[in-house]
Amino acid sequence: MAEIERHSFDVLVVGAGGAGLRAAIAAHDAGAKVGIVCKSLLGKAHTVMAEGGIAAAMANVWKEDNWKVHFRDTMRGGKMLNHWRMAQLHAQEAPDRVRELEEWGALFDRTPDGLISQRDFGGHRYARLAHVGDRTGLELIRTLQQRAVALGIEVFMECTITKLFTSTSAASTEKRVSAGAGRISGAFGYWRESGRFIAFEAPSVVLATGGIGKSYKVTSNSWEYTGDGHALALEAGASLVNMEFVQFHPTGMVWPPSVKGILVTESVRGDGGVLRNSEGRRFMFDYIPEFFKAETADSEEEADRWYEDKTNNRRPPELLPRDEVARAINAEVKAGRGSPHGGVFLDIASRRTPEYIRRRLPSMYHQFKELADVDITAEPMEVGPTCHYVMGGVAVDPDTGESAVPGLYAAGEVAGGMHGANRLGGNSLSDLLVFGRRTGLNAAYAAGRRGERPTIGDEEIRAASEHALAPFGIEGGENPYTVQQDLQEVMHNLVGIIRTADEMKQALTDLAALRERITRLSVEGHRQYNPGWHLALDLHNMLRVSECIARAALERTESRGGHTRDDYPATDDSWGKVNLHCRLDGDGVGITREPLPQMPDDLRELFN
Ligand code: FAD
Repeated sequence: MAEIERHSFDVLVVGAGGAGLRAAIAAHDAGAKVGIVCKSLLGKAHTVMAEGGIAAAMANVWKEDNWKVHFRDTMRGGKMLNHWRMAQLHAQEAPDRVRELEEWGALFDRTPDGLISQRDFGGHRYARLAHVGDRTGLELIRTLQQRAVALGIEVFMECTITKLFTSTSAASTEKRVSAGAGRISGAFGYWRESGRFIAFEAPSVVLATGGIGKSYKVTSNSWEYTGDGHALALEAGASLVNMEFVQFHPTGMVWPPSVKGILVTESVRGDGGVLRNSEGRRFMFDYIPEFFKAETADSEEEADRWYEDKTNNRRPPELLPRDEVARAINAEVKAGRGSPHGGVFLDIASRRTPEYIRRRLPSMYHQFKELADVDITAEPMEVGPTCHYVMGGVAVDPDTGESAVPGLYAAGEVAGGMHGANRLGGNSLSDLLVFGRRTGLNAAYAAGRRGERPTIGDEEIRAASEHALAPFGIEGGENPYTVQQDLQEVMHNLVGIIRTADEMKQALTDLAALRERITRLSVEGHRQYNPGWHLALDLHNMLRVSECIARAALERTESRGGHTRDDYPATDDSWGKVNLHCRLDGDGVGITREPLPQMPDDLRELFN
């Protein structure tokens, strides 16, 4: 086998979105030699697409806000399935992370008295999202990226990791290694442009690879979201938690077909936009669940007054958590009261001036003008649910971000636990900053404690290379694009927003057939920039993740948050005490039920 490029770091960070960059900066600050690998160009990560803002109880707009209210909102939004300790750390540390971002050069919108401005979002009791117009993710990435580059952190961009290495022998002395998982020793990947292989040796690897949206047909996610980190962790011996919970954002574009799924930010509703059906009715008043009744306005008058006076009025139902709004839209369309292209209407034009809309929502204005020829200052938008975010991810220690595999860490969307059954808008960007930092620091400390760096044997590299090259050795096999399309159909039709046992059993049968088909994927041409080959490799991950979602969704016989069962429409208290964990079991995915970590009494009191 030809020699391949090798590098050695204390901490290798896979992913250069908000979580990866923040982790890399923290690990560097803790004295580690750090490398970042990312599948696309630096600055192109998914985080850059984030629009609405970063949730943090800074109390700049509402002095009544504090971490306890944010913690409570997050847990209630997650239908109490969140890991309480993660939700607590997140709420406590988010304000400092936002201020730190400002110290590093981020330019936020301001309140009239010069503080960082905060806006309303669904499920948050107070205006809490620090923002930069509707381009917050761009500013976040710009700031972190400039800092990472200024610190001299080495970046390998357009480089995709396909395999994690573990060394069982090195780990055998460790108490924690009980489930057969070795200790992490590095990673293997390829350069997208040349197709050449590359290996990294590192005692600590941080996964910050984002989500899984590309397993679905209609999604707000970009091409990068193929669940790589989820699958890599699973295959290294970690478990994935809460995989049945996939967030369908209520408002994606529905027309024209080429842009179906692209996000319409929740800020439109936060800034006064309302949802109407084909009869012109503000239908969200018909869908206020008991759980949120006490804090939700029950008349249009009260809902409209809330924008000006939040103390004496309750929130509009359009700002209920995303799972509630997505289900309501789905029900209206199913009942035949949808818009011409299968969505509903989102109207801000009749409620705010054109100047206000253009100032507050510049990206939305341009997005609709350019992609759909709709002027949102003059006419309503057509919107419908789109697969947006995965609550499920690598099960990690809440304080350190370490998975069950020693030396393997996860932060950001690829990590599970923080958001429970449903994520509140704005809580992802703050999650990236809080847990990116924590994970980076702990990965660096652990690498320091370990002392020497691991080495990876030629045999392991040979096996990883052969696996990656397999699709070139098969002639006339399956086309990766066709298989991807079929996978997306299965997930969209059978494991989508509303689920039933029969459909999910069918999905598992279909996924098993797809698993068979991906052993016969074939690609043509050379290794140099070959997107068909890249997709063939991604498909293994997309399929793994889809199996986890379908299996966990079949197992959970209740409806909660981002998981709605038509055959079990009620929320069941006994399921509120259990998390589902997926682990590799032979060539398939096994599920175990594990008790929820117990919340201490002082935090529990916040819900009385
Ligand atoms: P990402 O930012 O996606 O970064 C993933 C990184 O991993 C990329 O660099 C990618 O190249 C790399 N990668 C992936 N696989 C591999 C591999 N195999 N090898 C090497 N590198 C790999 N959240 C909010 O809180 N507020 C918002 O306003 C908001 N708006 C949003 C708007 C849109 C349109 C979308 C899609 C999401 C929005 N979200 C928002 C959610 C939020 O943006 C994401 O959850 C978050 O950015 C994820 O960050 P991350 O660091 O985990 O991953």
